Amino acid sequence: MAQAMVIGAGVAGIAVAVRLALKGWQVTVWEANDYPGGKLSSFSQSGFRFDAGPSLFTMPKLVDELFALAGLNPTEHFQYQKLELACRYFWEDGTVIDAWADADRFAAEVESKLGVPREVLVRHLAAAKRKYESTKGLFLEKSLHKWGTYFQAATLKALIHLPQLHLGSTMHAVNTRKLGHPKLVQLFDRFATYNGSSPYRAPGVLNLIPHLEHGIGAAFPQGGMVAITEGLVKLAKGLGVRFELGRRVQRILVEGNRAKGVVVDGQEIYADRVVSNMDVVPTYRRLLADQPAPERVLAHERSSSALIFYWGIGRAFPNLDLHNIFFSEDYAAEFEGIFGGAGLLADPTVYVHISSKFEPQDAPQGMENWFVMINVPGNQGQNWDAIVTVARARILQKISRILKCDIAALIRSESILDPRSIEARTSSYQGSLYGASSNARLSAFLRHANFSSKIQNLYFCGGSVHPGGGIPLCLLSARIVADLIPAL
Ligand code: FAD
Repeated sequence: MAQAMVIGAGVAGIAVAVRLALKGWQVTVWEANDYPGGKLSSFSQSGFRFDAGPSLFTMPKLVDELFALAGLNPTEHFQYQKLELACRYFWEDGTVIDAWADADRFAAEVESKLGVPREVLVRHLAAAKRKYESTKGLFLEKSLHKWGTYFQAATLKALIHLPQLHLGSTMHAVNTRKLGHPKLVQLFDRFATYNGSSPYRAPGVLNLIPHLEHGIGAAFPQGGMVAITEGLVKLAKGLGVRFELGRRVQRILVEGNRAKGVVVDGQEIYADRVVSNMDVVPTYRRLLADQPAPERVLAHERSSSALIFYWGIGRAFPNLDLHNIFFSEDYAAEFEGIFGGAGLLADPTVYVHISSKFEPQDAPQGMENWFVMINVPGNQGQNWDAIVTVARARILQKISRILKCDIAALIRSESILDPRSIEARTSSYQGSLYGASSNARLSAFLRHANFSSKIQNLYFCGGSVHPGGGIPLCLLSARIVADLIPAL
């Protein structure tokens, strides 16, 4: 039976394994950690459970699709509930806005809190939908690096809508023009962070992102985000995929111009196809060190990283929801700090995710598990110990100020993740969350392709390659790779 090797059991690696097994390949997934999932994993401390990485789940149908492909009823294997409230936003002046998934309800909330006429928001969300519908076929679902893609109806659709895609403006410029109110602009600018970019640099076409929450709708999996990993690993194993956990691939074997397998623990293991789910930069630097690397692509600016405090909190906060944002007063300065080298802002925007709102067993009775995150630059050797200390104090001051409560006194347990540990645990170059950033107009074309143009039988999936980072795009990268590999 023909063998396929997958390097890394991130969500894309598991998804591509499922798809290749369904195409008749004998698949082995080599994973350096002794657990699968990469960033999409979970841990417990002192009676609190935490999802370690992703907390926002959009486009859940892409997970369902994998079960359906295997002839299973997705709802029997993976359950989730759609969010009614996408996110609760807090400002220092006491303004609180509930971003309801339903566009009309969200628009009514914005009108009552900010005085912005409903039509403004409804129009903006309709434009987000149009942007999404006209670009997904080209930018998300196909390889941009195959000529065939450019001779398809999806490309024509994107070209027809080119003027409305706002490729020549930034997200912030479009939001300012269309929404007007500074708080509403800030709220919509925040969607740039969904792929680790800056709204002041990323092209206006990315204003399609709100459609994922307010059109298609976000969800939360039963059992927490890690249920995605658990469900897909179980599916893969059921299809005969072998997981080799705690086995780091040292090298990709290349003979002539063909990938021939991998080297693990000094042993050569042969295969007919190799798929790397490892970040593309270390894939070239470490696993293909003797091969020429596509330097221009690898030099592309990385997306932001994050600093996360996992706090077990000793009481419940009924005024908080599953996803909460505490906005900074100066958003432009914050992104200058992340991408312009200005350093940590005195007043960063803080995201608080509390899965125990939906999964009460994630925290002891009457308590909550807080995943508290700020966006930070990638790891370039900064003094992270010092940054963590300062950031912790600023975050605590900010949340305590807005919630009018001493949060530090409520912390029962704590773990910390910073760009160094993200890099060490998942091999993500610089600890970036989403691979290459989208801070340039043509970013979509600057990501590495899903295959090697120099080495036959070598493929790439995951957040660092086309179409980009985040769970949905990683799942799409797996679909694109599987479409490039023939069924047996
Ligand atoms: P990764 O998760 O990066 O995993 C790669 C795997 O490869 C790892 O398990 C690693 O150990 C393994 N590996 C690497 N090198 C080797 C080797 N040589 N041999 C064997 N194995 C190897 N996305 C969202 O959609 N929503 C969110 O809310 C969200 N929030 C995030 C918050 C944080 C803190 C982080 C870190 C990420 C977040 N993301 C979010 C992004 C999302 O987690 C990633 O885009 C996605 O999980 C990446 O999946 P991947 O398949 O690229 O692999």
